[in-house]
Amino acid sequence: MTLLRFAPSPTGALHLGGLRTALYNFLYARKVGGKWILRLEDTDTERTVPGGVDNIRSALEWAGVHYDHGPGVGGPHGPYFQSERLDLYHNYADKLLKSGHAYRCFCTQERLAETRERLARTGSNRTYDKACLNLTEEEVARRVRAGEKSVVRLNDGRLPDRPFPKDIVFGSLRDSHASLPTDPILLKSDQFPTYHLASVVDDHEMGITHVLRGEEWLPSLPLHLDLYATLGLKPPEFGHLPLLLNLDGSKMSKRKGDVQVLDYMRRGWEPGAVLNWLALAGWGTNHEVLNGESLRKSSPDSTEVMNLTEMVQGFDLSVLTHRRSILDPMKLEYLNKHHLMREIATGSSGQARLAERIHQKVKTAFPASQYTSVEHIAQVIEILQGRLTNLQDVPLLAPYFFVEPNYATEEAQKMLKSLGDASYVTALDNLIARLEEENGEWSDLDLSAILHAQIQPITKSTKVYMTIIRHALTGMKAGPAAADIMRVLGRERSQQRLLSARR
Ligand code: GLU
Repeated sequence: MTLLRFAPSPTGALHLGGLRTALYNFLYARKVGGKWILRLEDTDTERTVPGGVDNIRSALEWAGVHYDHGPGVGGPHGPYFQSERLDLYHNYADKLLKSGHAYRCFCTQERLAETRERLARTGSNRTYDKACLNLTEEEVARRVRAGEKSVVRLNDGRLPDRPFPKDIVFGSLRDSHASLPTDPILLKSDQFPTYHLASVVDDHEMGITHVLRGEEWLPSLPLHLDLYATLGLKPPEFGHLPLLLNLDGSKMSKRKGDVQVLDYMRRGWEPGAVLNWLALAGWGTNHEVLNGESLRKSSPDSTEVMNLTEMVQGFDLSVLTHRRSILDPMKLEYLNKHHLMREIATGSSGQARLAERIHQKVKTAFPASQYTSVEHIAQVIEILQGRLTNLQDVPLLAPYFFVEPNYATEEAQKMLKSLGDASYVTALDNLIARLEEENGEWSDLDLSAILHAQIQPITKSTKVYMTIIRHALTGMKAGPAAADIMRVLGRERSQQRLLSARR
Protein backbone atom coordinates (compact mmCIF):
# COMPACT_ATOMS: atom_id res chain seq x y z
CA MET A 1 0.00 0.00 0.00
CA THR A 2 1.29 3.44 -0.89
CA LEU A 3 1.79 5.43 2.29
CA LEU A 4 2.89 9.05 2.48
CA ARG A 5 3.39 11.52 5.24
CA PHE A 6 3.39 15.24 5.82
CA ALA A 7 5.75 15.95 8.67
CA PRO A 8 5.74 19.59 9.72
CA SER A 9 7.52 20.91 12.78
CA PRO A 10 5.17 22.92 14.97
CA THR A 11 7.60 25.82 15.10
CA GLY A 12 5.06 28.38 13.85
CA ALA A 13 1.94 28.77 11.78
CA LEU A 14 1.49 26.56 8.71
CA HIS A 15 2.56 28.50 5.65
CA LEU A 16 1.80 28.19 1.96
CA GLY A 17 4.83 26.01 1.25
CA GLY A 18 3.72 23.55 3.93
CA LEU A 19 0.19 23.45 2.60
CA ARG A 20 1.50 22.77 -0.92
CA THR A 21 3.52 19.83 0.47
CA ALA A 22 0.48 18.49 2.33
CA LEU A 23 -1.64 18.91 -0.79
CA TYR A 24 0.75 16.96 -3.01
CA ASN A 25 0.88 14.16 -0.44
CA PHE A 26 -2.91 14.15 -0.35
CA LEU A 27 -3.21 14.20 -4.16
CA TYR A 28 -0.83 11.32 -4.68
CA ALA A 29 -2.38 9.23 -1.92
CA ARG A 30 -5.85 9.76 -3.41
CA LYS A 31 -4.58 9.19 -6.93
CA VAL A 32 -3.18 5.73 -6.22
CA GLY A 33 -5.64 4.67 -3.53
CA GLY A 34 -3.05 5.00 -0.79
CA LYS A 35 -3.08 6.84 2.53
CA TRP A 36 -1.20 9.69 4.14
CA ILE A 37 -0.19 10.52 7.65
CA LEU A 38 0.18 13.77 9.54
CA ARG A 39 3.26 13.43 11.75
CA LEU A 40 4.34 16.23 14.06
CA GLU A 41 8.11 16.62 14.25
CA ASP A 42 8.34 18.29 17.63
CA THR A 43 11.80 17.24 18.74
CA ASP A 44 13.32 20.69 18.63
CA THR A 45 12.10 21.72 22.05
CA GLU A 46 13.47 25.23 21.75
CA ARG A 47 11.72 26.04 18.49
CA THR A 48 8.39 24.35 19.15
CA VAL A 49 5.74 27.01 19.82
CA PRO A 50 2.51 26.70 21.78
CA GLY A 51 -0.46 26.58 19.45
CA GLY A 52 1.69 25.40 16.53
CA VAL A 53 -0.01 22.02 16.27
CA ASP A 54 -3.50 23.52 16.47
CA ASN A 55 -2.61 26.01 13.79
CA ILE A 56 -1.39 23.27 11.42
CA ARG A 57 -4.47 21.15 12.02
CA SER A 58 -6.87 24.08 11.62
CA ALA A 59 -5.19 25.16 8.40
CA LEU A 60 -5.43 21.67 6.90
CA GLU A 61 -9.03 21.42 8.06
CA TRP A 62 -9.94 24.76 6.48
CA ALA A 63 -8.25 23.78 3.22
CA GLY A 64 -10.07 20.45 3.16
CA VAL A 65 -6.81 18.52 2.90
CA HIS A 66 -7.78 15.73 5.25
CA TYR A 67 -5.20 13.22 6.44
CA ASP A 68 -5.95 9.54 6.90
CA HIS A 69 -3.90 8.92 10.02
CA GLY A 70 -2.57 11.27 12.66
CA PRO A 71 -3.51 13.37 15.65
CA GLY A 72 -7.23 13.39 16.32
CA VAL A 73 -7.81 10.66 13.73
CA GLY A 74 -5.63 7.85 15.04
CA GLY A 75 -4.29 5.00 12.96
CA PRO A 76 -1.98 2.01 13.19
CA HIS A 77 1.34 3.91 13.21
CA GLY A 78 0.97 6.16 16.23
CA PRO A 79 1.92 7.96 18.30
CA TYR A 80 2.07 10.73 15.70
CA PHE A 81 4.11 13.15 17.78
CA GLN A 82 7.84 12.49 17.66
CA SER A 83 8.20 13.65 21.25
CA GLU A 84 6.19 10.55 22.22
CA ARG A 85 8.47 8.19 20.30
CA LEU A 86 11.79 8.88 22.01
CA ASP A 87 12.44 5.26 23.06
CA LEU A 88 12.33 4.23 19.44
CA TYR A 89 15.06 6.66 18.44
CA HIS A 90 17.19 5.59 21.41
CA ASN A 91 16.86 1.95 20.34
CA TYR A 92 18.10 2.78 16.86
CA ALA A 93 20.93 4.90 18.23
CA ASP A 94 21.95 2.06 20.55
CA LYS A 95 21.97 -0.34 17.65
CA LEU A 96 24.33 1.94 15.73
CA LEU A 97 26.53 2.45 18.81
CA LYS A 98 26.82 -1.31 19.29
CA SER A 99 27.72 -1.98 15.68
CA GLY A 100 30.32 0.81 15.68
CA HIS A 101 28.46 2.89 13.11
CA ALA A 102 27.96 5.58 15.69
CA TYR A 103 29.86 6.86 18.72
CA ARG A 104 29.46 9.16 21.69
CA CYS A 105 31.02 12.57 21.51
CA PHE A 106 31.70 14.68 24.60
CA CYS A 107 33.25 17.70 22.87
CA THR A 108 32.17 21.07 24.21
CA GLN A 109 30.72 23.79 21.97
CA GLU A 110 33.97 25.74 22.39
CA ARG A 111 36.14 22.82 21.29
CA LEU A 112 33.85 22.15 18.31
CA ALA A 113 34.02 25.78 17.21
CA GLU A 114 37.82 25.85 17.49
CA THR A 115 38.10 22.57 15.60
CA ARG A 116 35.85 23.82 12.79
CA GLU A 117 37.96 26.94 12.43
CA ARG A 118 41.24 24.99 12.50
CA LEU A 119 40.01 22.56 9.85
CA ALA A 120 38.72 25.39 7.65
CA ARG A 121 42.14 27.11 7.86
CA THR A 122 43.84 24.00 6.54
CA GLY A 123 41.42 23.94 3.57
CA SER A 124 39.70 20.77 4.75
CA ASN A 125 36.01 20.28 4.00
CA ARG A 126 35.63 18.29 7.22
CA THR A 127 33.72 19.95 10.02
CA TYR A 128 34.86 17.76 12.93
CA ASP A 129 38.13 15.95 13.71
CA LYS A 130 36.47 12.77 15.08
CA ALA A 131 38.43 13.15 18.33
CA CYS A 132 35.87 11.19 20.37
CA LEU A 133 35.97 8.25 17.97
CA ASN A 134 39.19 7.23 19.68
CA LEU A 135 37.81 7.07 23.21
CA THR A 136 37.92 3.62 24.76
CA GLU A 137 34.72 1.87 25.81
CA GLU A 138 35.73 2.21 29.46
CA GLU A 139 36.37 5.92 29.08
CA VAL A 140 32.97 6.44 27.46
CA ALA A 141 31.21 4.41 30.15
CA ARG A 142 32.99 6.34 32.91
CA ARG A 143 32.09 9.73 31.47
CA VAL A 144 28.46 8.73 30.93
CA ARG A 145 28.27 7.47 34.50
CA ALA A 146 29.76 10.70 35.74
CA GLY A 147 26.85 12.51 34.11
CA GLU A 148 28.90 14.23 31.41
CA LYS A 149 26.83 15.49 28.51
CA SER A 150 27.28 13.77 25.18
CA VAL A 151 25.80 13.47 21.73
CA VAL A 152 25.69 10.44 19.43
CA ARG A 153 27.36 10.88 16.05
CA LEU A 154 27.20 8.77 12.91
CA ASN A 155 30.65 7.48 11.99
CA ASP A 156 30.89 8.44 8.34
CA GLY A 157 34.11 6.45 7.98
CA ARG A 158 32.14 3.23 8.10
CA LEU A 159 29.48 3.91 5.54
CA PRO A 160 28.63 1.31 2.93
CA ASP A 161 28.77 2.15 -0.78
CA ARG A 162 27.25 5.54 -1.56
CA PRO A 163 25.64 5.62 -4.99
CA PHE A 164 24.35 8.99 -6.25
CA PRO A 165 21.08 9.72 -4.49
CA LYS A 166 18.08 9.67 -6.82
CA ASP A 167 15.13 11.97 -6.52
CA ILE A 168 11.81 11.65 -8.33
CA VAL A 169 11.81 15.35 -9.18
CA PHE A 170 15.47 16.39 -9.27
CA GLY A 171 16.88 13.20 -10.77
CA SER A 172 20.33 11.91 -9.90
CA LEU A 173 22.25 14.13 -7.45
CA ARG A 174 25.98 14.20 -8.13
CA ASP A 175 28.53 15.40 -5.57
CA SER A 176 25.77 15.78 -3.02
CA HIS A 177 27.75 14.03 -0.27
CA ALA A 178 30.47 16.66 -0.25
CA SER A 179 28.33 19.21 1.56
CA LEU A 180 27.39 16.92 4.45
CA PRO A 181 28.82 17.69 7.88
CA THR A 182 31.43 15.29 9.24
CA ASP A 183 29.91 12.60 11.45
CA PRO A 184 26.48 14.20 11.75
CA ILE A 185 24.76 14.20 15.12
CA LEU A 186 21.93 11.72 15.56
CA LEU A 187 21.04 12.18 19.23
CA LYS A 188 21.45 15.55 20.89
CA SER A 189 22.73 16.10 24.42
CA ASP A 190 19.15 16.66 25.64
CA GLN A 191 18.53 13.07 24.44
CA PHE A 192 16.15 14.21 21.72
CA PRO A 193 16.96 12.90 18.26
CA THR A 194 18.00 15.25 15.49
CA TYR A 195 15.57 15.67 12.62
CA HIS A 196 17.63 13.26 10.50
CA LEU A 197 17.52 10.26 12.82
CA ALA A 198 13.88 10.78 13.79
CA SER A 199 12.78 11.25 10.21
CA VAL A 200 14.50 8.10 8.95
CA VAL A 201 13.37 5.97 11.89
CA ASP A 202 9.78 7.11 11.60
CA ASP A 203 9.56 6.82 7.85
CA HIS A 204 10.79 3.25 8.22
CA GLU A 205 8.72 2.33 11.28
CA MET A 206 5.55 3.79 9.78
CA GLY A 207 6.10 2.02 6.47
CA ILE A 208 6.29 5.19 4.37
CA THR A 209 6.71 4.34 0.68
CA HIS A 210 7.04 7.88 -0.75
CA VAL A 211 8.39 11.06 0.78
CA LEU A 212 7.23 14.25 -0.90
CA ARG A 213 8.71 17.26 0.86
CA GLY A 214 10.13 20.70 0.23
CA GLU A 215 13.31 21.38 -1.75
CA GLU A 216 14.93 22.77 1.38
CA TRP A 217 15.39 19.15 2.53
CA LEU A 218 17.14 18.02 -0.64
CA PRO A 219 20.63 18.57 0.86
CA SER A 220 19.68 16.14 3.65
CA LEU A 221 18.78 13.36 1.23
CA PRO A 222 22.30 11.83 0.99
CA LEU A 223 22.55 11.68 4.78
CA HIS A 224 19.16 10.04 5.04
CA LEU A 225 20.14 7.46 2.46
CA ASP A 226 23.38 6.87 4.39
CA LEU A 227 21.32 6.17 7.49
CA TYR A 228 19.05 3.72 5.69
CA ALA A 229 22.07 1.94 4.28
CA THR A 230 23.85 1.82 7.65
CA LEU A 231 20.76 0.44 9.33
CA GLY A 232 20.24 -2.05 6.50
CA LEU A 233 16.80 -0.63 5.69
CA LYS A 234 15.11 -0.04 2.36
CA PRO A 235 14.55 3.69 1.81
CA PRO A 236 11.29 5.11 0.49
CA GLU A 237 11.18 6.97 -2.81
CA PHE A 238 11.96 10.66 -2.40
CA GLY A 239 10.55 13.60 -4.33
CA HIS A 240 11.47 17.18 -3.42
CA LEU A 241 9.09 19.97 -4.36
CA PRO A 242 10.56 23.17 -5.79
CA LEU A 243 10.76 26.32 -3.70
CA LEU A 244 7.95 28.83 -3.92
CA LEU A 245 8.99 32.34 -4.86
CA ASN A 246 7.57 35.82 -4.42
CA LEU A 247 6.77 37.92 -7.48
CA ASP A 248 10.23 39.50 -7.34
CA GLY A 249 11.86 36.07 -7.44
CA SER A 250 12.85 36.10 -3.76
CA LYS A 251 12.27 33.04 -1.62
CA MET A 252 8.94 32.97 0.18
CA SER A 253 9.63 32.95 3.86
CA LYS A 254 7.71 33.10 7.07
CA ARG A 255 9.31 36.41 7.83
CA LYS A 256 8.07 38.15 4.71
CA GLY A 257 4.40 37.99 5.72
CA ASP A 258 1.54 36.89 3.51
CA VAL A 259 2.47 33.25 3.85
CA GLN A 260 0.36 31.99 6.73
CA VAL A 261 -2.42 29.77 5.50
CA LEU A 262 -4.96 30.93 8.07
CA ASP A 263 -4.44 34.53 6.96
CA TYR A 264 -5.84 33.49 3.61
CA MET A 265 -8.88 32.16 5.41
CA ARG A 266 -9.24 35.41 7.35
CA ARG A 267 -8.98 37.42 4.18
CA GLY A 268 -11.87 35.50 2.64
CA TRP A 269 -10.10 33.48 -0.04
CA GLU A 270 -11.79 30.27 -1.14
CA PRO A 271 -9.85 27.27 0.17
CA GLY A 272 -10.30 25.54 -3.19
CA ALA A 273 -8.77 28.50 -5.01
CA VAL A 274 -5.79 28.60 -2.67
CA LEU A 275 -5.23 24.86 -3.25
CA ASN A 276 -5.63 25.34 -6.99
CA TRP A 277 -3.04 28.12 -6.87
CA LEU A 278 -0.61 25.96 -4.90
CA ALA A 279 -1.24 22.88 -7.03
CA LEU A 280 -0.18 24.75 -10.13
CA ALA A 281 3.06 25.81 -8.43
CA GLY A 282 5.23 22.79 -9.10
CA TRP A 283 3.00 21.02 -11.57
CA GLY A 284 4.39 19.82 -14.87
CA THR A 285 6.65 22.04 -16.88
CA ASN A 286 9.63 19.70 -17.18
CA HIS A 287 8.86 19.23 -20.85
CA GLU A 288 12.27 17.81 -21.59
CA VAL A 289 12.04 14.93 -19.16
CA LEU A 290 8.49 13.86 -19.78
CA ASN A 291 6.86 12.05 -22.57
CA GLY A 292 4.89 14.60 -24.56
CA GLU A 293 1.66 12.67 -24.70
CA SER A 294 1.20 12.05 -21.00
CA LEU A 295 2.39 15.55 -20.22
CA ARG A 296 -0.22 17.12 -22.42
CA LYS A 297 -2.89 15.06 -20.77
CA SER A 298 -1.79 15.68 -17.22
CA SER A 299 -0.26 19.12 -17.26
CA PRO A 300 -2.83 21.86 -16.82
CA ASP A 301 -2.47 25.33 -18.18
CA SER A 302 -1.03 27.62 -15.53
CA THR A 303 -4.44 29.18 -14.96
CA GLU A 304 -6.55 26.06 -15.10
CA VAL A 305 -9.41 26.05 -12.64
CA MET A 306 -9.60 22.74 -10.78
CA ASN A 307 -11.34 21.47 -7.70
CA LEU A 308 -9.74 18.80 -5.53
CA THR A 309 -11.32 15.94 -7.45
CA GLU A 310 -10.03 17.31 -10.73
CA MET A 311 -6.60 17.84 -9.22
CA VAL A 312 -6.52 14.20 -8.13
CA GLN A 313 -7.50 13.11 -11.63
CA GLY A 314 -4.74 15.11 -13.28
CA PHE A 315 -2.03 14.46 -10.72
CA ASP A 316 0.80 11.99 -10.92
CA LEU A 317 4.44 11.91 -9.83
CA SER A 318 5.46 12.43 -13.45
CA VAL A 319 3.86 15.90 -13.47
CA LEU A 320 6.17 17.24 -10.76
CA THR A 321 8.65 19.86 -11.86
CA HIS A 322 11.88 21.02 -10.28
CA ARG A 323 11.39 24.55 -11.62
CA ARG A 324 10.87 27.07 -8.87
CA SER A 325 7.44 28.64 -9.01
CA ILE A 326 6.35 32.20 -8.48
CA LEU A 327 3.15 32.54 -6.50
CA ASP A 328 1.48 35.44 -8.23
CA PRO A 329 -1.28 37.08 -6.13
CA MET A 330 -3.08 38.11 -9.35
CA LYS A 331 -3.38 34.47 -10.26
CA LEU A 332 -5.02 33.76 -6.94
CA GLU A 333 -7.54 36.53 -7.68
CA TYR A 334 -8.32 34.99 -11.04
CA LEU A 335 -8.70 31.49 -9.61
CA ASN A 336 -10.74 32.72 -6.68
CA LYS A 337 -13.19 34.50 -8.96
CA HIS A 338 -13.65 31.30 -10.94
CA HIS A 339 -14.04 29.13 -7.86
CA LEU A 340 -16.74 31.53 -6.68
CA MET A 341 -18.47 31.36 -10.05
CA ARG A 342 -18.46 27.57 -9.87
CA GLU A 343 -19.97 27.60 -6.40
CA ILE A 344 -22.61 30.12 -7.47
CA ALA A 345 -23.43 27.96 -10.50
CA THR A 346 -24.32 25.03 -8.24
CA GLY A 347 -27.57 26.90 -7.50
CA SER A 348 -29.34 28.21 -4.47
CA SER A 349 -27.65 25.91 -1.96
CA GLY A 350 -24.19 27.03 -3.06
CA GLN A 351 -25.26 30.66 -3.02
CA ALA A 352 -26.69 30.27 0.47
CA ARG A 353 -23.45 28.64 1.69
CA LEU A 354 -21.50 31.64 0.45
CA ALA A 355 -24.03 34.06 1.93
CA GLU A 356 -23.78 32.37 5.34
CA ARG A 357 -20.05 32.97 5.30
CA ILE A 358 -20.36 36.73 4.95
CA HIS A 359 -23.62 37.18 6.81
CA GLN A 360 -21.89 38.53 9.90
CA LYS A 361 -19.59 40.75 7.90
CA VAL A 362 -22.50 42.32 6.01
CA LYS A 363 -24.43 42.88 9.25
CA THR A 364 -21.39 44.55 10.78
CA ALA A 365 -20.85 46.72 7.71
CA PHE A 366 -24.49 47.87 7.64
CA PRO A 367 -25.73 47.68 11.24
CA ALA A 368 -28.88 49.71 10.58
CA SER A 369 -29.92 47.86 7.43
CA GLN A 370 -33.03 45.72 7.35
CA TYR A 371 -31.84 44.02 4.18
CA THR A 372 -29.15 41.68 5.48
CA SER A 373 -30.92 38.32 5.46
CA VAL A 374 -29.00 35.32 4.13
CA GLU A 375 -31.57 34.99 1.30
CA HIS A 376 -31.00 38.55 0.17
CA ILE A 377 -27.20 38.26 0.37
CA ALA A 378 -27.41 35.04 -1.65
CA GLN A 379 -29.29 36.87 -4.42
CA VAL A 380 -26.73 39.66 -4.35
CA ILE A 381 -23.89 37.16 -4.64
CA GLU A 382 -25.59 35.50 -7.57
CA ILE A 383 -25.77 38.67 -9.62
CA LEU A 384 -22.27 39.78 -8.66
CA GLN A 385 -20.70 36.67 -10.12
CA GLY A 386 -17.95 37.39 -12.56
CA ARG A 387 -17.29 40.69 -10.75
CA LEU A 388 -16.61 39.20 -7.38
CA THR A 389 -12.93 38.43 -6.82
CA ASN A 390 -13.19 37.80 -3.12
CA LEU A 391 -16.38 37.05 -1.20
CA GLN A 392 -15.49 39.65 1.40
CA ASP A 393 -15.72 42.39 -1.24
CA VAL A 394 -19.53 42.19 -1.35
CA PRO A 395 -20.17 45.15 1.01
CA LEU A 396 -17.63 47.27 -0.84
CA LEU A 397 -18.70 46.28 -4.31
CA ALA A 398 -22.45 46.61 -3.83
CA PRO A 399 -23.37 48.63 -0.72
CA TYR A 400 -26.55 49.79 -2.45
CA PHE A 401 -28.26 46.45 -1.87
CA PHE A 402 -28.06 47.02 1.86
CA VAL A 403 -28.35 50.79 2.28
CA GLU A 404 -29.56 53.71 0.17
CA PRO A 405 -27.19 54.81 -2.60
CA ASN A 406 -24.91 57.70 -1.94
CA TYR A 407 -25.46 60.17 -4.78
CA ALA A 408 -23.10 62.68 -3.22
CA THR A 409 -19.94 60.74 -4.00
CA GLU A 410 -17.52 62.20 -6.49
CA GLU A 411 -18.19 59.27 -8.81
CA ALA A 412 -21.96 59.80 -8.70
CA GLN A 413 -21.65 63.55 -9.24
CA LYS A 414 -19.26 63.17 -12.13
CA MET A 415 -21.53 60.63 -13.79
CA LEU A 416 -24.52 62.86 -13.44
CA LYS A 417 -22.73 65.71 -15.17
CA SER A 418 -21.63 63.58 -18.07
CA LEU A 419 -25.05 61.99 -18.54
CA GLY A 420 -26.79 65.32 -19.17
CA ASP A 421 -29.67 66.58 -17.02
CA ALA A 422 -32.39 66.42 -19.62
CA SER A 423 -32.02 62.85 -20.74
CA TYR A 424 -31.41 61.73 -17.13
CA VAL A 425 -34.72 63.18 -15.94
CA THR A 426 -36.65 61.97 -18.98
CA ALA A 427 -35.23 58.49 -18.65
CA LEU A 428 -36.29 58.21 -15.03
CA ASP A 429 -39.73 59.77 -15.60
CA ASN A 430 -40.45 57.40 -18.46
CA LEU A 431 -39.33 54.37 -16.53
CA ILE A 432 -41.28 55.34 -13.42
CA ALA A 433 -44.40 55.73 -15.55
CA ARG A 434 -43.80 52.50 -17.40
CA LEU A 435 -43.31 50.48 -14.21
CA GLU A 436 -46.53 51.88 -12.78
CA GLU A 437 -48.41 50.20 -15.60
CA GLU A 438 -47.22 46.80 -14.42
CA ASN A 439 -49.29 45.22 -11.68
CA GLY A 440 -48.12 41.62 -11.96
CA GLU A 441 -45.62 39.85 -9.74
CA TRP A 442 -42.26 41.67 -9.84
CA SER A 443 -40.39 38.41 -10.28
CA ASP A 444 -42.50 37.56 -13.35
CA LEU A 445 -41.68 40.81 -15.17
CA ASP A 446 -39.19 40.79 -18.00
CA LEU A 447 -37.35 43.80 -16.64
CA SER A 448 -34.62 43.56 -19.22
CA ALA A 449 -37.17 43.82 -22.07
CA ILE A 450 -38.89 46.74 -20.37
CA LEU A 451 -35.61 48.61 -20.02
CA HIS A 452 -34.50 47.89 -23.56
CA ALA A 453 -37.77 49.16 -24.98
CA GLN A 454 -37.11 52.49 -23.25
CA ILE A 455 -33.75 53.13 -24.82
CA GLN A 456 -34.86 54.54 -28.17
CA PRO A 457 -36.94 57.51 -27.05
CA ILE A 458 -34.17 58.75 -24.77
CA THR A 459 -30.82 57.98 -26.27
CA LYS A 460 -29.66 55.67 -28.98
CA SER A 461 -27.00 54.23 -26.76
CA THR A 462 -27.82 51.21 -24.61
CA LYS A 463 -24.72 51.92 -22.60
CA VAL A 464 -25.68 55.51 -21.78
CA TYR A 465 -29.26 54.54 -20.96
CA MET A 466 -28.24 51.68 -18.66
CA THR A 467 -25.65 53.92 -16.99
CA ILE A 468 -28.41 56.42 -16.18
CA ILE A 469 -30.60 53.73 -14.65
CA ARG A 470 -27.69 52.19 -12.78
CA HIS A 471 -26.76 55.60 -11.42
CA ALA A 472 -30.29 56.10 -10.15
CA LEU A 473 -30.42 52.65 -8.59
CA THR A 474 -26.93 52.49 -7.13
CA GLY A 475 -25.06 55.80 -7.39
CA MET A 476 -22.27 53.81 -8.99
CA LYS A 477 -20.87 53.41 -12.45
CA ALA A 478 -20.00 49.74 -12.58
CA GLY A 479 -22.17 46.90 -11.49
CA PRO A 480 -24.43 44.11 -12.63
CA ALA A 481 -27.07 44.62 -15.33
CA ALA A 482 -29.68 47.23 -14.32
CA ALA A 483 -32.50 44.70 -14.75
CA ASP A 484 -30.76 42.29 -12.35
CA ILE A 485 -30.25 45.04 -9.80
CA MET A 486 -33.97 45.89 -9.99
CA ARG A 487 -34.98 42.27 -9.65
CA VAL A 488 -32.94 41.87 -6.47
CA LEU A 489 -33.96 45.24 -5.01
CA GLY A 490 -37.64 44.40 -5.52
CA ARG A 491 -40.44 46.64 -6.79
CA GLU A 492 -40.74 48.99 -3.91
CA ARG A 493 -37.07 49.76 -3.44
CA SER A 494 -36.48 50.09 -7.19
CA GLN A 495 -39.33 52.52 -7.68
CA GLN A 496 -38.36 54.42 -4.58
CA ARG A 497 -34.83 54.88 -5.88
CA LEU A 498 -35.90 56.08 -9.29
CA LEU A 499 -38.03 58.67 -7.54
CA SER A 500 -35.31 59.78 -5.16
CA ALA A 501 -32.77 60.11 -7.93
CA ARG A 502 -35.30 62.10 -9.99
CA ARG A 503 -35.61 64.79 -7.32
N1 GLU B 1 9.95 18.56 9.92
C1 GLU B 1 10.34 19.04 8.63
C2 GLU B 1 9.67 20.40 8.41
O1 GLU B 1 9.26 21.03 9.31
C3 GLU B 1 9.86 18.09 7.56
C4 GLU B 1 10.93 17.50 6.74
C5 GLU B 1 10.49 16.22 6.06
O2 GLU B 1 9.37 16.18 5.52
O3 GLU B 1 11.23 15.26 6.07
O4 GLU B 1 9.56 20.88 7.34
